[in-house]
Amino acid sequence: MSFLEVKDLQVYFPIKGGIFNRTVDYIKAVDGVSFELEQGKTYGLVGESGSGKSTTGRAIIGLEEVTSGQIFFEGKDITDKKAKNKNFRKDVQMIFQDPYSSLNPRKRVLDIVAEPLRNFEKLSKQEEKKRVQELLDIVNVSTDSIYKYPHEFSGGQRQRIGVARAIALKPKLIIADEPVSALDVSVQAQVLNFLQEIQKELNLTYLFISHDLGVVKHMCDNISIMYKGRYVEQGSTKDIFENPQHIYTKRLIAAIPDIDPKNRDKQFKFRQEVAKEYRESYDTYFDGDGLAFGLQSISNTHKVALPEKG
Ligand code: ADP
Repeated sequence: MSFLEVKDLQVYFPIKGGIFNRTVDYIKAVDGVSFELEQGKTYGLVGESGSGKSTTGRAIIGLEEVTSGQIFFEGKDITDKKAKNKNFRKDVQMIFQDPYSSLNPRKRVLDIVAEPLRNFEKLSKQEEKKRVQELLDIVNVSTDSIYKYPHEFSGGQRQRIGVARAIALKPKLIIADEPVSALDVSVQAQVLNFLQEIQKELNLTYLFISHDLGVVKHMCDNISIMYKGRYVEQGSTKDIFENPQHIYTKRLIAAIPDIDPKNRDKQFKFRQEVAKEYRESYDTYFDGDGLAFGLQSISNTHKVALPEKG
């Protein structure tokens, strides 16, 4: 039994039009994606903006309606919103990109972090304060900050407060949607390392959503690369970085900045090769609508989107 299994997920958004405001077409935000996530591991969904990463995460947690496909959590079918019961809502939490807009600016840290506790547990004011202080301690924010407001903290500290809130109910799975993209590069590494530390301490499983392949390489055990709602490639982090097969994956890898001057010539050459391959073999990788084909297995762990043979 997989910890989390997503099977052939589709999430379509209707486009309305005409004088009767009928559905005239659909935006296929997620168009048939599947993956399995093991407990305690980190799974990365990568791709450029608009490729369907957030919608996948939001559909799993229940913020978007599933058009078709199935989602299983700990063996239980939770595709339907009604199946996402109280336990599920405790076990699965989300961390968002911009901690400033996801934390209510008019509320104090105590109320922000205590909110999930108030929804699920009946604690006295004293117990609640103690729990919030314990949580702030875990995320390394001073425990006497509980009466402060979000604007009184730096971006990195705000994201830590967002994490304190997300772990308040001792979840099993955290869906982290671009959790460091709004932070300065210097702070990103600190927050990523901290997320890895608490993963071990609290036995957390992460679904990690990012447009940044460099960040995902650092964080993830397995990766799916998304393009226009579909997968172009799926594999272990080693498969993806040491043996990329799809031209789109190669383009993303080539775009990761390498700051080491020793690698400058090598990277320049790789970028040129990838650009040439993209021009010359586009039709090998994309259909007439510019979409990725279905995934074909090339090893036990590695799949790539290519036209079916025969
Ligand atoms: P990503 O996370 O990779 O940036 P998203 O999942 O946010 O991508 O979006 C995928 C596609 O779905 C985009 O074309 C986006 O505009 C569209 N989309 C997302 N949410 C909605 C919505 N609520 N209504 C209509 N279209 C949406």
